Amino acid sequence: IKVDPVYLQNTVNAIIGSIINIEDITQKVKLENMRSDFVANVTHELKTPLTSISGFVETLRLNENIDTETRNRFLGIIETESDRLKRLIDDILFLSSIENTESRVLEKINLYDTFKDVKDMLSYIAESKKITFSYEFLDKSLFVVSNRDYIKQIFLNLIENAIKYTPENGKVKVIVSSNENEIILQVIDNGVGIPKEDIQRIFERFYRVDKARSRDVGGTGLGLAITKHIVKSLNGKIDVNSELNKGSEFIVTIPKKIS
Ligand code: ADP
Repeated sequence: IKVDPVYLQNTVNAIIGSIINIEDITQKVKLENMRSDFVANVTHELKTPLTSISGFVETLRLNENIDTETRNRFLGIIETESDRLKRLIDDILFLSSIENTESRVLEKINLYDTFKDVKDMLSYIAESKKITFSYEFLDKSLFVVSNRDYIKQIFLNLIENAIKYTPENGKVKVIVSSNENEIILQVIDNGVGIPKEDIQRIFERFYRVDKARSRDVGGTGLGLAITKHIVKSLNGKIDVNSELNKGSEFIVTIPKKIS
């Protein structure tokens, strides 16, 4: 709390009263801290792959006689880290574009068509892990009024996570249903699950239960933060049920718009 006393003086400078302005700056300080934490996190996340890239480039330059196998391995690392940088930058830009509500282009988005696009994009990853990917889409005419990229991102982030955090031969299922007032998207997997103490935090920017695992599967730690932001922009909510080593279920509920 910030207290600003102002003393009222008369013409001979005697204090005749005072005004105390009490302002609750908890929220302001919180926002300011969040912003500087985010900048620190972004800097750190961008620096890690960059340091690795410049380190390996330097090693290659200084060792002209390096054997082909090692050379290719180093080039492979440079490629992976560059991809990671690109993903991070894309995610950061996407996150800030959601915050900029003025540039939002709204249209009627058919959920089934959007889901099908995402399914086509992700099927090969599921297949490469021998994951059974199934879906139930009862009403193929369901739509939401939003930005096309946003709806794609919801499906993409949740399904990609389900595939990433489910071991080989696992199962991922998407169910889209609706009732009178809401559309409900469920993404269910029987993968690694999330420890109870982490569940509240997984929607925070850059929060990862297991940093090494997230890194190995190409995660940026921003997917769920982006998803939550989009769902909020649709006046919806996102919930998660999860049990360690059993699996997870993410549930997005979006109110139906009357058009
Ligand atoms: P990441 O890029 O690391 O996947 P996200 O923001 O998408 O970042 O998710 C944050 C963290 O939540 C992940 O690092 C992971 O620990 C956990 N998580 C997300 N989805 C799942 C899931 N389906 N199963 C288990 N853990 C999950």
